[in-house]
Amino acid sequence: MVDLKGQYEGIKDEVNSSVLEVMESSAFINGPRVHQFQKELEAYLDVKHVIPCANGTDALQIAMMGLGLKPGDEVITADFTFAATVEVIALLGLTPVLVDVEPDTFNIDVKAVERAITPKTKAIVPVHLFGMCADMDSIMDLAEKHNLFVIEDNAQAIGANYTSGNGSKKKAGTIGHVGATSFFPSKNLGCYGDGGAIFTNDDDLAHIIRGVVNHGMYKRYYHDVVGVNSRLDSIQAAVLSSKLKRLDQYNKARQEAARKYNVAFEGEANIVTPVAKKECSGICSDCDCHVFHQYTLKIKNSDRDALAQHLNEKGIPCGVYYPIPLHLQKAYADSRYNEADFEVTNSLVKEVISLPMHTELDQEQIDFITSTVKSFVNG
Ligand SMILES: *Cc1c(COP(=O)(O)O)cnc(C)c1O
Repeated sequence: MVDLKGQYEGIKDEVNSSVLEVMESSAFINGPRVHQFQKELEAYLDVKHVIPCANGTDALQIAMMGLGLKPGDEVITADFTFAATVEVIALLGLTPVLVDVEPDTFNIDVKAVERAITPKTKAIVPVHLFGMCADMDSIMDLAEKHNLFVIEDNAQAIGANYTSGNGSKKKAGTIGHVGATSFFPSKNLGCYGDGGAIFTNDDDLAHIIRGVVNHGMYKRYYHDVVGVNSRLDSIQAAVLSSKLKRLDQYNKARQEAARKYNVAFEGEANIVTPVAKKECSGICSDCDCHVFHQYTLKIKNSDRDALAQHLNEKGIPCGVYYPIPLHLQKAYADSRYNEADFEVTNSLVKEVISLPMHTELDQEQIDFITSTVKSFVNG
């Protein structure tokens, strides 16, 4: 699904020497490399504060802790996403409220969010799923109207640009009150272990969060709030600095691969390709709102699971993200939910399949993958 080795080959000398430098310096924790990467990411995202942490799941949890969300507060998020999002809501004793997604973008359905708002609702967590920004204009309007926090789960969309209706462009993850991302190796900006970060333009919130990540300390050995221990280490920061310089180039390579996939699947009645923008279904070579963390098809009138098995037999990796809606997971099932409210997620879980997507895909691989998919679906 990903070719981390091929990508490493291209940056090997630089990464090896910067990692060795960290070893020589012995500044493994909170070293200058972490600070340097923090500043570089702040500049890249055009955001006032980046707070590095240990992983993306922590980033989400710490963002919610920083906002002061309390047990009983309701937090609305998408039913069709990775479990980390809902997991931290539940872990903090908040009440997760799962809502349906849009059939074309796979992102949270703002109308469903609106219907789910109650007097207890405190926050919305849009997930920019598969690398494409959720409808942030509508989400921010709704949040303002109801006085809610917006926490962007940007684990899959780092580097994506969101263009508002008024023409202003912002990086995904910097639009809401706070954003969280992951540097897990397979993410668009991945390190060689675990890592994550929180972003915000709010000075007070940034200050609170800097304490939360460090055992609730604002002054050494004075613990003002209950915190956690969540750090990005210097070796990962060194790797990330090398990869951040190339992030736009990497995301362009993903967009180019997606464009080639789209061309190959053009005219296929039973294969629905991902939309890059709501307005432009189909091929889009210059949109930058989607950074294709995954390239995900919807397969109609054919057995998706049999297709996945067929691809595996042909040596083509593929993935089903995600096979079970969160509201049907044992850990998150709740009698409050009504199946009729999850029509889209319930059908997506049967139709979606993600094809190999990374920075090293070439035309020959894409031709082999797409012809194998097409001959199965039309078979
Ligand atoms: C990967 C991911 C996370 C969690 O990140 P980790 O670094 O693995 O903890 C959270 N949300 C989404 C949508 C993700 O894809």
